[in-house]
Amino acid sequence: MGDVIQIENLAVFAFHGVYPEETKLGQKFLLSLTLHTDTRKAGRSDDLKDSIHYGELASFASQYTVAHPCKLIEAAAEQLAEAILLRYPKLRGVTLELKKPWAPVGLPLETVSVKISRFRHRVYLAMGSNLGDRKGYLDGAVRALDATEGCHVAAVSGYIETAPYGGVEQGDFLNACAELETLLTPEELLEQLNRIEKEANRERTIHWGPRTLDLDILFYDDLILETDRLVIPHTELHKRTFVLEPLKELAPNKRHPILKKTVLEMLRECEQTAL
Ligand code: ATP
Ligand code: CA
Ligand code: CA
Repeated sequence: MGDVIQIENLAVFAFHGVYPEETKLGQKFLLSLTLHTDTRKAGRSDDLKDSIHYGELASFASQYTVAHPCKLIEAAAEQLAEAILLRYPKLRGVTLELKKPWAPVGLPLETVSVKISRFRHRVYLAMGSNLGDRKGYLDGAVRALDATEGCHVAAVSGYIETAPYGGVEQGDFLNACAELETLLTPEELLEQLNRIEKEANRERTIHWGPRTLDLDILFYDDLILETDRLVIPHTELHKRTFVLEPLKELAPNKRHPILKKTVLEMLRECEQTAL
């Protein structure tokens, strides 16, 4: 479960609601927050700079709630959770309950509330380019990822030169991996990757053909996912030296959630079968 800091029933006078009276007159909301963060360091040092200043956070949450009126408490909760995670990098996640006492439904209920949990996710990406200014495209991708709302590039591997894969006659690739912290879901992230590829003039012509920029999701936490649009972990990653080699720099001991092998172990196996 991990450590948490809890704030219970912070009263905020705000303007969320569908009805005009609600948006004009305002009403009282109650906000409860569970902050998922490692308190061990602060627990040992007894120093506020090692922890999250919950007074400051409560005041930020309160002001944010007032300044961002929404029709739905679902939307108010979603936006606030994201704003808190963006502002407090020490937080792994936040569980947030927004209660609306005496919600105007004409019945004697006490409160209506939404409760959501939102977490920061750690993602590893593969990047490749074999057309035009290859280094420029990879550098540009890193900048574009970091500039994407809800995304932070935590680390980038070195760039390696590799021979093309898949049997299509084409130029050598420049390959690399990046470690990303993100608030986006896998589908939202894929959409952003497609946007960044498109902005790098990627044209989807031949499968496994030459491209200015290719961005693939390798791991998303320890998630296992298989849909029409998205397979995570990436289906080929354990077979590709050009992925495992740069990934080794960032996460040598990261374990594949299905194969149960570390990046180093998968790389060693790849190198052995290539002999
Ligand atoms: P490969 O996936 O073998 O590296 P590719 O990267 O050349 O091949 P693309 O043409 O870039 O293939 O992508 C084809 C489709 O793969 C994308 O439209 C996307 O929906 C899907 N896809 C499935 N899983 C992933 C993933 N983990 N990361 C990125 N795209 C994925
Ligand atoms: Ca690819
Ligand atoms: Ca791809």
